Amino acid sequence: MDPCRRKDTCSSANSWGVVVSHWDWEVAVDFPSKTLTCTATLDIRTLTDGVGSLILDCVGLVVSEVSSRESGESLAYQVKQLDGELTPCLDISLPSTCAKKGAELGVRISYKTDPALCAAVQWLEPSQTMGKKHPYLYTQCQAIHARSMLPCQDTPSVKSTFSAKVAVACELVALMGAERLGSEPHASNPTLTVFSFRQNVPIPSYLAALVVGALESKRIGPRSHVWCEKEMVEKAAWEFEETEKMLSAAEEVVGEYLWGQYDILVLPPSFAYGGMENPCLTFLSPSLLAGDRSLANVIAHELSHSWTGNLVTNENWEEFWMNEGFTTFLERRIAAKVFNEKERHLQASGQTQAYLYMQASKAKANNSTTPRTTLFFKEKLRAALGGIRTHDTLQSRQSALTH
Ligand SMILES: [Zn+2]
Repeated sequence: MDPCRRKDTCSSANSWGVVVSHWDWEVAVDFPSKTLTCTATLDIRTLTDGVGSLILDCVGLVVSEVSSRESGESLAYQVKQLDGELTPCLDISLPSTCAKKGAELGVRISYKTDPALCAAVQWLEPSQTMGKKHPYLYTQCQAIHARSMLPCQDTPSVKSTFSAKVAVACELVALMGAERLGSEPHASNPTLTVFSFRQNVPIPSYLAALVVGALESKRIGPRSHVWCEKEMVEKAAWEFEETEKMLSAAEEVVGEYLWGQYDILVLPPSFAYGGMENPCLTFLSPSLLAGDRSLANVIAHELSHSWTGNLVTNENWEEFWMNEGFTTFLERRIAAKVFNEKERHLQASGQTQAYLYMQASKAKANNSTTPRTTLFFKEKLRAALGGIRTHDTLQSRQSALTH
């Protein structure tokens, strides 16, 4: 591996020499053991001559077999920790047919997740849901958790399309951040239903998203549904009824919405973020159901990511502030169109005040004499070393720096 060509210190993948252009994912969800049993078939293409291996990011994945889709032959592999790397990797030997630049291959990987190490997946007991009857699962891959559920080039500098089939218990519904292609009974197990998905817009791994639960939906616009447990459907549909207005306003500013559907998922209360911009399916905290639409601006923010972040993406995590900065800018442009210019200024002013207050508090705690400069560079250093800053901190900081 040529270290000079590395751009993302959070990934071990040799994406300078080979890229994953598409992944096909077959998943069986097992709640009692809290595991995903999966087969991932990666379409790879070499970018240079002489690439002998495919190195993927991988945390806690118990790999049972790796083979070539084309020939069926087994491919040698090793899970290992490279010196100086943040997390382990899966090193797969490529056949000699991949020696030349532009060679293509399907690499099939069979594996299970490890419930102790799979940070991407949150498993909820029935008691942690609103309905109290069924278990629930949701994923949060941003920033670098996708590698704990999928062997992948876990860097935002690589984007892939994907397709997926997810098998879940019949009483449950599976959704992904993708176009929904329908469901059918499992071919050999009558207790399971298989849901199919396709994402035709290439996405970085951190936008891979899955949710499984006793979910229901209600249409809230020509291209939007709200999804949640049935107890919350009506309330959520009312709260986010202005979604289409916001989507249309964004299109007036930055052009056509290219992802087809724009659905909203309202999660159980344990979801740790206000919102997550998973493609086609924004994940939202139920704390946004204020009953008066006063927090619906989060929708403006999350749908703005459909352009800034999801279509045009930071190359590595040190530059994540660009995702949030441009998104916050677009969120306010939507506010100006849907409400008025004063609302845009009010939002900007409010976030700036909150940011300055936060920085002053931190400076006091750190006993710093130059709070903003010191804190800024501390954050940059932490990111360069592989640390991940929080979504909200970045938005607030960017708000103050750009307003
Ligand atoms: Zn954001």
